[in-house]
Amino acid sequence: MIRYALRCDQAHDFDMWFADSDTFDALARASHVSCPECGSTAVTKALMAPGVTKSQKSQAMTNTPAPREIAKMITEYRTKVMAETTDVGRKFPEQVRDMHEGLIDHTPIRGQATPDEAKSLVEDGIGILPVPPEPPKEN
Ligand SMILES: [Zn+2]
Repeated sequence: MIRYALRCDQAHDFDMWFADSDTFDALARASHVSCPECGSTAVTKALMAPGVTKSQKSQAMTNTPAPREIAKMITEYRTKVMAETTDVGRKFPEQVRDMHEGLIDHTPIRGQATPDEAKSLVEDGIGILPVPPEPPKEN
């Protein structure tokens, strides 16, 4: 997991966790990363990752993935999230908060939160991230 410092086009700074940099790139490109403050999906990494050396540069210069590749990555990411988390539905904000405060054991969960609830969690320094919506079915 990688934590990124992100910034939207309204200059709101926030942090989110991603499985890896490819996941971030795919989600950001498909507008699945949104600012918890204003909902903008024009989100960029606020900071360069420290310690990036020239030897790693060649990796960053690979071709931009095709839309089909991005959709595939998002689907894989979504499948992984679905497989590794337990759906707690509307109890999500409460359970995440309880975990953060050490009241209950940390387990990977997913569920629903209103934008206000999500915002409040993020403001309290509790890392959450959106599960990508189910992609449209291919023919
Ligand atoms: Zn914003």
